[in-house]
Amino acid sequence: MKRLVIATTNPHKVEEIAAVLGRLGIECVPLGRTDLPEPEEDGETFEANARIKAVAYAKALGATVLADDSGLEVDALDGAPGVHSARYAGVGATRAERDQANNAKLLAALAGVPDEQRAARFVCVLCVAGPDGAIDAEARGTFEGRIGHAPRGANGFGYDPLLVLDDGRTSAELSPDEKNARSHRGNALRRLVKLIEAAG
Ligand code: IMP
Repeated sequence: MKRLVIATTNPHKVEEIAAVLGRLGIECVPLGRTDLPEPEEDGETFEANARIKAVAYAKALGATVLADDSGLEVDALDGAPGVHSARYAGVGATRAERDQANNAKLLAALAGVPDEQRAARFVCVLCVAGPDGAIDAEARGTFEGRIGHAPRGANGFGYDPLLVLDDGRTSAELSPDEKNARSHRGNALRRLVKLIEAAG
């Protein structure tokens, strides 16, 4: 498999995925079409939603497609926002506005919660489906940290400014290469490539 269509409209995800897969010799092609109906992500797990997206876009395009479903799990919130991470606050016309509203809602939900109870992780599930809609490979990765008390850092997207890592930096304070080396998405991608290679 040398060519994958990346089925996401999130430009940050495309950049992160292409950076890792490009180095492994896999060409990544962005979806590049806005006329396709967006499948409804109504699964209750990251796995279910990644499959829904990969299968729908693979069949619609007649191509091999990689889909990413990801989000943030916060232990003190029983795993929320989880699969609802993208629209946790439910407001904002642009991606940047939604991210800001989500981060504000998360900080409010954790007001007064001490550091030792603020454990959280990003989760990423990747799914590859072939042109006939059959699932070729699936992989999950996580990125552990805790939720800070104020956003920090200008890199990345989404909740990156709030996930504090064990070295004290937030995910948004890592360079793109540093984030990919440690992140849920980077880990899931490396696992996925091993599975694809093993399948020949
Ligand atoms: P999806 O596009 O439905 O998979 O939604 C993913 C959402 O989870 C994003 O909009 C972000 O809010 C959050 N998320 C996923 N991956 C990351 C990441 O690498 N950094 C920060 N937030 C992330």
